[in-house]
Amino acid sequence: MPELPEVEIARRQLARWGEGRRVREVIARDAAAIRRGLSTRPSDALPGGAEAVARALVGATAGAPARLGKRIGWRFGEAGLLVHLGMSGKWVRREEPPPHARLGLSFHDVDGAAWFVDPRRFGCVALVPADGLDAALADGLGPDALDAAPDGPGLAARLAGRRPIKVALLDQARLAGVGNIHAVEALWRAGISPHTPCESLDAAAWARLAQAIPAQLRWTVEAEEADEIAYVNEGAANPFAVYARAGTPCRRCGAAIASAILGGRSTFWCPACQG
Ligand SMILES: [Zn+2]
Repeated sequence: MPELPEVEIARRQLARWGEGRRVREVIARDAAAIRRGLSTRPSDALPGGAEAVARALVGATAGAPARLGKRIGWRFGEAGLLVHLGMSGKWVRREEPPPHARLGLSFHDVDGAAWFVDPRRFGCVALVPADGLDAALADGLGPDALDAAPDGPGLAARLAGRRPIKVALLDQARLAGVGNIHAVEALWRAGISPHTPCESLDAAAWARLAQAIPAQLRWTVEAEEADEIAYVNEGAANPFAVYARAGTPCRRCGAAIASAILGGRSTFWCPACQG
């Protein structure tokens, strides 16, 4: 499932494939992927969206795609495109549309097209005016967990409260980009139990966590970056220390990894070394 590292990899792909090039064609295979704002629901499709995106993008030159949290913002002259990968979205470059292709962008002087592929259809693109793109990208989000990572005291202030730290880390309004996988991985790195209420963490724990989050995200970008990404739930090898490893030995101490549902999401941790 795409979280910040996977979205950062998508941003880099789009930059490689399109930045500085003129859009030749917009191919809408599923008009419902073009929505009124960032929405997970195909029923929020923008009426006439396919024509509107083609009108705005064809002939325009792609700028440098930006990322904040799990969102991408991409400028094309006067128009901006917001992209959210949802639960299963990714971009691939192909001559022909792959299965579950929702939208294709082709560029002058480049073979094939960049295809937005999304089997589960929670992902979307939305058209916004270029001068509103930065605001739309940041709307409702805290600082980026990789590029604007808070320090220990900053993180403590942002996540203050009684919620378990794992639940608080998923609150995109407090910190943008950390999802279920990277929350459990960062907590394992920092040696903190996911159940710990935020208000119980001391300054040393916040400092470890503030370091562990960007380290985890950076490590994952490096581990996963490829011309075409494969997600763990698609059968790619699981590179993570605790995520989806219940019952297997902890890489740090050998105790069996535990799992539970916390805040409605699968949670994994080592009961021995995450005190
Ligand atoms: Zn352990």
